[in-house]
Amino acid sequence: MARVFVITGPSGVGKGTLIRGLMERVAQLELSVSATTRAPRLGERDGVDYHFLTRTEFNTKVNEGAFVEHADYAGRSYGTLRSELERRVRAGTPVVLEIEVQGARQVRAAMPEAVQVFIAPPSLPALRTRLVGRGTDDHNEVERRLMVAEHELKAQPEFAHVVVNDRLDEALERLVAIVTAELD
Ligand code: 5GP
Repeated sequence: MARVFVITGPSGVGKGTLIRGLMERVAQLELSVSATTRAPRLGERDGVDYHFLTRTEFNTKVNEGAFVEHADYAGRSYGTLRSELERRVRAGTPVVLEIEVQGARQVRAAMPEAVQVFIAPPSLPALRTRLVGRGTDDHNEVERRLMVAEHELKAQPEFAHVVVNDRLDEALERLVAIVTAELD
C-alpha cells in the first residue's frame, strides 16, 4: 500500500535537511513539490524546489480544487497539489510532504491514514540561531517565522511522532526508523 508521510515543524528546524537524508536512505520515497506564492530564493528552481505561482495563479488553483491542502504562512501561500500526490498514491509510490502545521492538520482530516511526524527544535533560541545562521531570510522575515514557530510548537502533542532535531545524525536515524517501520 502506498503511504503518505507528512513532515512538519517550524521553519528552520531542519525539515529539508532531514528529508534529504531520509530520501537518500529510503530510495523508494518521492517528494511532493509544493506550490507557493513566495519568490524563489537564490538557487531555487521552478518545478524542482517549488512550483512558483503568482497570487492569481494560486487563487485559480484554489478555486479549481487543485490543492489537497493549502495555508497562509508568514504572508505567503503554500499548497500541496493533488497532481503531485494522487498519481504517486495510485502508482503505489510512498510520498513525502514537507509542510507547515495548518497544512498538516488539513491532511490529517482528509487522510487520517497519513503518517505525521513533527520535527521540533531543542529550544526556541536554538531555532533562532539556525534561522539567522542559514541566511536565507532577512531580519523581519526571521522574526515573522519565529512568531509563527511559537504557535507551531504548541501543536506538538497532536502528532503521533515527534523527533527533536538536536543532533542531526540522531534525528535522521529516528526519522528513518519511523518511516521504514511504516513501510514494512
Ligand atoms: P519556505 O518559505 O521556508 O520554503 O517554507 C515556509 C513554510 O511553508 C515551511 O514550514 C514549509 O514546510 C511550509 N510549506 C512548504 N510547502 C508547503 C505546502 O505545500 N503546504 C503547506 N501547508 N506548507 C508548506
